[in-house]
Amino acid sequence: MHFLVTAGPTREYLDAVRFLSNPSSGRMGFACAREAAKRGHRVTLVTGPVELRNLPGVRTIRVGSAREMHRAVMRAFARTDAVIMAAAVSDHRPARARATKHKKTGRGMILRLAPNPDILQDLGRRKKGQLLIGFALEVQNPTANALAKARKKKLDYIVLNSPESFRENQMSAVVFRDGTRVKSFRKAGKAAVARWLVREGEKRTSSTIRR
Ligand code: C5P
Repeated sequence: MHFLVTAGPTREYLDAVRFLSNPSSGRMGFACAREAAKRGHRVTLVTGPVELRNLPGVRTIRVGSAREMHRAVMRAFARTDAVIMAAAVSDHRPARARATKHKKTGRGMILRLAPNPDILQDLGRRKKGQLLIGFALEVQNPTANALAKARKKKLDYIVLNSPESFRENQMSAVVFRDGTRVKSFRKAGKAAVARWLVREGEKRTSSTIRR
């Protein structure tokens, strides 16, 4: 099988040196890529800026912004069987990015934001049998919001976790498949969650995809 995995945050520059981002470490996506490679699969990992080294046996594409991630993911998608979208993609970017460093003026500033493409939603529209696994980080009404997201983006699985899991090695999460809760993790290692997701991907695609 060929797994496409995304990891890490994206950076949305507003001038030559400043950006909007989030504290995603990339560990969840890297754990999934490592597990899939260990189990003998072809793996393409598209990652935002993280402090993690390339993994043996994993084709790694490093990107900066959500739009760069979108391009790299779309290019690889047709040849993949399953996508694990663990990246914490910025929903917005500055509408205008300055090429130079913005000078301090002592006055306030209004920053206009433009929406970024929703990579996973685009994959949901284009999918031809590929399995799609998304993540949701929800603070309010977590289950209802995660399920709504899974429907909207045509996901096969959604992993609902909490903001504490951003930097930690451990996470608590609930996984839903086709609207039904199928697995819960309590303070599990990200490697254990990755193992479960990759095995689930193997089970679900082996019957539908033959390459
Ligand atoms: O940000 P949101 O809660 O909608 O993220 C849910 C899923 O959608 C995640 O798997 C995330 O990687 C993906 N996503 C995306 N492109 C975006 C925002 C989120 O692919 N612009």
